[in-house]
Amino acid sequence: MVDPSQPILPPAPTVLRFAPSPNGHLHRGHAYSALFAEAMARRLGGELILRIEDIDTTRCKPELVDAMREDLDWLGIHFDGETVRQSNRFDLYGLAADRLRAEGLIYPCFCSRADIAANATGETDPDGAPVYPGTCRHLDPHMAEQRIAGGANVAWRLDMDAALERTGPLTWAEMNAETLAISHIAADPMAWGDCVLVRKDTPTSYHLSVVVDDAEQHITHVTRGMDLYFATAIHRVLQTLLGLPAPIYCHHKLIADDDDKKLSKSRGSMSLRDLRDEGLSAAQLRRELGFQSAAAG
Ligand code: GLU
Repeated sequence: MVDPSQPILPPAPTVLRFAPSPNGHLHRGHAYSALFAEAMARRLGGELILRIEDIDTTRCKPELVDAMREDLDWLGIHFDGETVRQSNRFDLYGLAADRLRAEGLIYPCFCSRADIAANATGETDPDGAPVYPGTCRHLDPHMAEQRIAGGANVAWRLDMDAALERTGPLTWAEMNAETLAISHIAADPMAWGDCVLVRKDTPTSYHLSVVVDDAEQHITHVTRGMDLYFATAIHRVLQTLLGLPAPIYCHHKLIADDDDKKLSKSRGSMSLRDLRDEGLSAAQLRRELGFQSAAAG
């Protein structure tokens, strides 16, 4: 007998990630973010994986990666599956960039910071940086090719107008951390202007890598700090252009390193390893940040 109430496919697993950039030692803010992801994974009955976002190969030194793993072990966070390092996946991001390039959605930009400042319109993006004035948007493609062939330093920017013409208006699903209720947030990618998707110093960017990896790793719920809330608009544009699924987002409060009145001032700017050397236990830190111990249900 066929039971119509039984699904024909097994339910897709719930997968969350903690995705730090090891360009310095981890601080309390990172600990909060990792513990938040762990708590949410437990609550949703999902897996938690660790992704090392080390596209900036000059700043993300191997010893910082090792130190970061040690800090996370000390904190007692268990990660499932294999740990992915973005620095091993430049080819994958390259394929995504190639696709956008082939569709005429990204263009080469040769501007320096000084060039951008000189042409600035006064408009700033949600991070407070000047919105790109569009200087290289309509360069002659042949000349641009010649400059690239000649070894000029080049970044590739998203043509946001062209992209939005393709995607139309977008929203994202934001989950409330307390109630788990979902709200649909209207995305405002235009506020970012023509953002960089392939940097001059590394063959990808945070935005491009993060959407490729979240899709490739089947991440169902992205938990991360509020500092990345508005960047979600860019991520939705890229997911739509690249035909990638959209995870549910859950942005958490930011733990400032030096202004949390509840914690002793002197601990403010200290890294997790400094706190540990001072004798703070992982259980104490968990409690201070509002999370129960690793062992507790
Ligand atoms: N690597 C980013 C950071 O350390 C987080 C990226 C994300 O969670 O989307 O701030």
